[in-house]
Parts: sequence; C-alpha cells; structure tokens
Amino acid sequence: MIKANNPALKSWVEVSADSDFPIQNLPFGVFTTKTNTRPRVCTRIGDFIVDLVVLDHLSMLDDCEISHSVFDNQYINDLMSLGKEKTRALRNCLSDILEEGNTEAEKNSWHFLHHADKVEMLLPIRVGDYTDFYSSIEHATNVGTIFRDPDNALLPNWKHLPVGYHGRASSIVVSGTEITRPKGQTKPKDDEPPVYGPSRLLDFELEMGFVIGKENGLGNAVSTGEAEDYIFGLILFNDWSARDIQKWEYIPLGPFLAKNFASTVSPWVITLDALEPFRVQGPEQEPKVLPYLQYEGMKNYDVNLQVAIQPEEKQETVVCDSNFKYMYWNMTQQLAHHTVNGCNMRVGDLLASGTISGPTPDSYGSMLEISWRGSKPVKMNDGSERKFINDGDTVIMRGWCEKDGVRIGFGEANGKVLPAK
Ligand code: MN
Repeated sequence: MIKANNPALKSWVEVSADSDFPIQNLPFGVFTTKTNTRPRVCTRIGDFIVDLVVLDHLSMLDDCEISHSVFDNQYINDLMSLGKEKTRALRNCLSDILEEGNTEAEKNSWHFLHHADKVEMLLPIRVGDYTDFYSSIEHATNVGTIFRDPDNALLPNWKHLPVGYHGRASSIVVSGTEITRPKGQTKPKDDEPPVYGPSRLLDFELEMGFVIGKENGLGNAVSTGEAEDYIFGLILFNDWSARDIQKWEYIPLGPFLAKNFASTVSPWVITLDALEPFRVQGPEQEPKVLPYLQYEGMKNYDVNLQVAIQPEEKQETVVCDSNFKYMYWNMTQQLAHHTVNGCNMRVGDLLASGTISGPTPDSYGSMLEISWRGSKPVKMNDGSERKFINDGDTVIMRGWCEKDGVRIGFGEANGKVLPAK
C-alpha cells in the first residue's frame, strides 16, 4: 500500500468529514494570492492550500531531492515528468509534514498555509494535445437512439475500439472561467438553408480527463499493462457542446466548432496513486476485444459524479448523479489504442473519457440525454424549466470517492454561461 493512502492517517489541520481533501488525497494544483501573484505549485488539506515553494524554502522537502524550479512553476508539467517514483515520494513527504504529531510543521504552518477562500486557482497543466473519447456505452447508445436508429444505436466499430477524436487544447480553461455562448452555423429546418447566430442548444458533457506524465516517444506503443505508469492523475472535465452546431457540421469528420470554443477542468489533479483504493471491475466486454486492448485486473474507478445547474442568483438544481465506474472502455485501453499506431504522448497531454452516462435517466451526463433532445424538460428548484443551458446559468460538476471512512474528492469544475458576443 502507498504510505500516504493509509486510511488511519490524521492531520494536525482540522478536516471536516465531508471535505474532498483529507490527508489521504494530497492533489496537485497551481495558485496565486493577492499579495504574491507569482504562480506556484501547491497541494490542499481541508480548507487550506499548502504552498510547496515555501515548504521547499524551509528545507522540508529536501529528502525528495526535487529541483526548486519544479515548485516555483506556473504548471505541474515538470513535476509530473519526474516520474511516479519521485512524485509518490513527494506525496509521502507531504503526508509526513501534515500528519498529526508533526508539531514542528504545525508551528511553522503560518508560513505555508493559505485559506482556500483567499487564493486563486489557475489551470494546473500546460495542455499539449487534447483527445476526447466516446467510451460510455450508455451515452453512445442514447445518442445513437436519439439521432439515428434505436435498433442500431451503436455503430459497428464501437465495441471493437474506443472511438475518439482530436480536440483543441487552447480553449481548455480552469473552473470559474466564464463561458461565452458560441455563435455558428446551424440548420434548424431540414428543408431550409442554414442560418448563422448564437447556439440555441448549448449543453454540458460530464467527463473525466486523465493527464499524461510520461512520454512514449514517436513509434512506440504503450500496452494496457504499462498504461498506468503514463497516467499521472485525473480531473473533472466539462466538454461544453453546442448541439445545433454539432448536428449540422459533424458529417463526415466529427466534432469541430461545436466543441472547441471551451472545455472546463477542475483545478486539482488527483493522482492515480490517491485513487488506488477505489479500483473496481469494469463491465464485461462482449465480443472479446483484440489482444492489444485486453487487460488484467481492475481498471475502472468508483468515482461518484454530479452535475448541478445554478440559475443566476438562484439555488442550484442537481440534474445528474452518475459514476465513472460505468465506463465501457477504461483508461488503459484508451491509451493503448491511442498509441498502438506509434502516436507519441507528451507530458501534459489530456485525454478525456467522453460523456459519462449511467443506466438510468437521472444518471445521464448531458442535457441532450436528460431532456431527451428537448422533449422532456427538467423541472428546476426555482420553478423554471431547462432543456439546455440558459445564459446566466452556472454548470457545476463535482466528483468524489468514498470507502473505509475516507473521502477523496475532486473539488469542482464550474463555468457560468454569458450571452453571445
Ligand atoms: Mn465529449
């Protein structure tokens, strides 16, 4: 077992039972404060941000033998590229510093702790390339049913390979960034020419993303067995989607302007190490997949996922409760498939799961499915209805694991929609 994951550990920092950030989590992020606007790497415990630059200055990280520039950095890419042995040792070291009984650290804590309300969290990864998969069988079946044919909802390739497309990295933004409603070309009526204007069917997609921490080099495939060494950690991911633009533009090359105007990520990268206790078996794959996609052991993760919509100055309404464990294709299969042709992954590349839908309507991961293309509007707590996302709405995604009295959370990925420009 990884030392920092021990469920018995307690911190000298008080952490409430419903916190996403007990001592067993220790995620990585990047922050600034009003008085020190230089971005630097941090972790989190309870309601507090832990400044790793200061910890290193205080010689509290000396045993890890990590260059100071790794912490004094706008991104965690350099940290991820140290490799699992070093980052695991760092997480164990942070655990020792924050563990109950470390009175020396507690005495000095005013140097390196900041209340979470007093900091600004930044995009933690310099994202190189971004790929989006389509790996939830429930989602693919729903979308196939809505747009094509209920009897042939899944296309013939779907159960043989994890379908994906190359997305855009430049518009990936951190939680809290406002999203401007996209404009574009749509074709509202089949027998009339296309029109230009603001998207009328703006949607979210509930996804999880994983971040690459190790390069394979051009021409080298990563096997499912090796994949976890290349995956540094996970984040929440909202793949904002303009359904009306998507419907008209996607044939034959797939998503383009309907997707690339924005994607929102949570500010904390939860390490794969911290998620170790939450492994579960994935769904059985039938027909049997080709040898390069076969895997051994438990490669799915039990992560509760939730989406809420909060209208401007109103109370939020939870519109979806799902779980990452439903994924048909797991991350090791996605990475093995992505590299089977020799495609090179670089540190900071982001691979997203595709919309995560569960088996029941309350677990569908997009408004397209929840409102069944607008035919079943959702009742909101303020009395209004939603088919898709309105201007002024904030979409909030949350994720957390729970087992043996330990709750490992992801924080939030939220974004408020502003009217089109
Ligand atoms: Mn997507």
